[in-house]
Amino acid sequence: MKKVAVITGGASGIGLAIARRFIEGNFKVIIVGRDTIKLRAACKTLGDESDFFSCDLADLTAIPGLVQQVIDKHGRIDILVNNAGINLKKPILDVTDEDYQKIILTNQTSAFCLTRSVAGFMQEQGAGCILNISSMASVYGLPYVIAYTASKAAIEGMTRAMAVELSPAGIRVNCIAPGFIKTNMSSVALEKDPERKGKVLSRTPMGRLGKPEEVANAAYFLASDEASFITGVILPVDGGNSIGF
Ligand code: NDP
Repeated sequence: MKKVAVITGGASGIGLAIARRFIEGNFKVIIVGRDTIKLRAACKTLGDESDFFSCDLADLTAIPGLVQQVIDKHGRIDILVNNAGINLKKPILDVTDEDYQKIILTNQTSAFCLTRSVAGFMQEQGAGCILNISSMASVYGLPYVIAYTASKAAIEGMTRAMAVELSPAGIRVNCIAPGFIKTNMSSVALEKDPERKGKVLSRTPMGRLGKPEEVANAAYFLASDEASFITGVILPVDGGNSIGF
């Protein structure tokens, strides 16, 4: 029986690359996002072993229903990738309470709610794998992304807390901390700010941005049985950015 993987934000960027890699690795893939047109187009490229559900994960009340729909249609969830995320680049003094709450809700609280819902089913299955996506923002102080940074630091703390509680039930919980990866999100942040891009590249020993496929390969490894004794890990996939000077 094929493993069933749910990937949030799976219609673009890093999430889509993970979806492609999982399909290559013989998983069935369910992608989740808000934009139905984008989701349908992504599934067309992913092929018959993919499906999509449209859901705004910032609406926490919709999450248990979403999980039940996936279970009703596909029977199980073996892997959950909490990849959906948004960014906001603003100086601290300009960030409103609403701005801040929206980022925390989308990037962190929704990942907690979805994991709680899915982990219940995984516990009954006696096995499962949760993969969170954090960021270099949780490693060092990046200016102008205060809410994003708080959300991603929380994702890493949550990864460890989830791993100690869920691993005894056979549910491994890990996290990937991508460096600067070429997607729409990073293009918005870097292409209009050459100074920031120069700084990123100068402290990345490999001297380039990463490709979504390079994050996807790490995600596949962590989701596969090859990583059967790995839990609670935060894996940077960053060309050395986190240790660069
Ligand atoms: P994209 O903007 O391409 O992807 C983000 C995805 O999240 C979209 O597919 C979007 O789908 C989905 N999404 C956003 N908000 C919601 C919501 N409320 N409900 C459901 N889905 C939502 O960016 P990336 O691929 O670059 O980012 C993916 C992840 O990787 C993010 O968590 C990001 O923080 C992280 N990351 C990215 C880095 C980079 O350099 N690119 C570096 C470090 C971390 P839709 O619009 O349909 O809702």
